[in-house]
Amino acid sequence: MKSVWESTALKYPSPEGELKREIVVVGGGIAGYLTAFFLSEKGAKVTLLEAASLFSGVTRGTTAHIEALQGLVYSDLIKKSPETAGLYFESQQRAVPKYHSLIEKYKIECGFEIEDDYLYSMKSAEKIKREYDALKALGADALYLDSPEIFGNKARAALMLPGQARFDPLKFLSGLPAKFEIFERARVIEADLKKKILSTEKATVKAEKIVIATNFPIVDFPGAYFLRMYKSTSYAVAVSGSPELGGMYQTDEEDGYTFRNHGDLLIACGLDHRTGRASPEKYEKLIETAKTIAAGEFVAAWSSNDCVTFDGLPYIGRYSKKAPDSYVITGFNKWGMATAITGAELLTNLIYGLPDRFEDVFFLGKAFFGRGRVHKKRPFRLKQSRPQKYPAAFENRRFTFEGRRRDSLFQREKARRVQRYRRADPSLFSPLPAPRLSAYFQSQHFDVGLPLPRLAV
Ligand SMILES: Cc1cc2nc3c(=O)[nH]c(=O)nc-3n(C[C@H](O)[C@H](O)[C@H](O)COP(=O)(O)OP(=O)(O)OC[C@H]3O[C@@H](n4cnc5c(N)ncnc54)[C@H](O)[C@@H]3O)c2cc1C
Repeated sequence: MKSVWESTALKYPSPEGELKREIVVVGGGIAGYLTAFFLSEKGAKVTLLEAASLFSGVTRGTTAHIEALQGLVYSDLIKKSPETAGLYFESQQRAVPKYHSLIEKYKIECGFEIEDDYLYSMKSAEKIKREYDALKALGADALYLDSPEIFGNKARAALMLPGQARFDPLKFLSGLPAKFEIFERARVIEADLKKKILSTEKATVKAEKIVIATNFPIVDFPGAYFLRMYKSTSYAVAVSGSPELGGMYQTDEEDGYTFRNHGDLLIACGLDHRTGRASPEKYEKLIETAKTIAAGEFVAAWSSNDCVTFDGLPYIGRYSKKAPDSYVITGFNKWGMATAITGAELLTNLIYGLPDRFEDVFFLGKAFFGRGRVHKKRPFRLKQSRPQKYPAAFENRRFTFEGRRRDSLFQREKARRVQRYRRADPSLFSPLPAPRLSAYFQSQHFDVGLPLPRLAV
């Protein structure tokens, strides 16, 4: 299903032969494209490798609120480190003026609108108050609203942060001048970050610096990002005949909704869940909710999934201390519009050896160095997946996760058996086909939440 953003047709070649390049960015979504853009603005020779066509990944499935107000993130971060919370807020707040200046400079028509941003709760005023207090403590110009009316319903509480924005991300990105080399249909199938060699189906690219901007990092080791985050799916629908909402809206619930206007459309998004546990009735629920606000017709429905980190902060910086010339930008927790622009500039500064005040916030190994308490919420566990997720052949082997014993011996024995089955027939572990460790973990048969602090490995 297609989103409301018009996709760009394939227009760049596919790489062939043995190539040598200065800086190679892998991934042509908002993160990779902006990184390539800022690097090339500084005069670097950049090559971008995109597996399919530009912006065809998560960026095409976004709802494109550019916002520093991000659920309950600040009340959580401030408890752990007020300094990190402050820097994170600053890193997100700077996104709107930065986008604005680029849009003005390159005269890009992309429906950019400055908006007030609302976070509301139908259940608990307390959480909203806590988030408001955290934002105020960080110096935000936020406003607390007691029992406001939101779309005809009485909410318990809401908070408003002015000066946020919405736009059409594909029009914006397509409007930026690409003064760098682009390859499409260039899926990197092998990456040696130590030797700095990337292989696609028909080409080998030797690079001096590599940026992995593939949303989910494609290299398992070093880095071990597959243990540090998981994919979460969100659903979106567009319905015509929307009234002017007078702002962008989000709720405090993990599976709640966000709302924005796009022309006369209402875009509603939400009902998040861990990827792989889909339930088709989500669209019906979303359309029903959207139609309580917008009177028109159903226009589009789509879903996509983004990376969610266990401590609420993205990973942007060196890929690993073992691969010092490689960089990563990932883990946006569904706030990639604001974070990508700050992250792309951060990577540009890192590659040029320049200081950047946000380096410590996103860098693997610095922010909250060594803390484990964040992860205690999600202890490592093997969990029974929904029975229908297992292929029939798998069920026939009488291998189930019934029972909830958690002792390590039991877990290890299960893991050994899974390994054995996987070796015998990897196809049983669909839907992710690649025989990578991350595919194994991300195939949704497990919830992973290792107490892995932000240590560079
Ligand atoms: C439904 C939904 C709504 C959202 N709404 C918002 C919002 O309102 N505001 C907000 O801030 N954020 C939002 N987000 C999050 C935001 O859209 C994402 O964080 C952001 O788009 C991620 O961009 P990216 O560049 O990391 O990923 P992508 O856009 O997926 O880019 C990665 C690219 O890498 C390519 N690639 C992958 N593997 C390879 C390979 N091996 N070789 C070469 N190329 C490869 C892919 O084809 C892809 O084009 C939303 C997310 C979802 C799912």
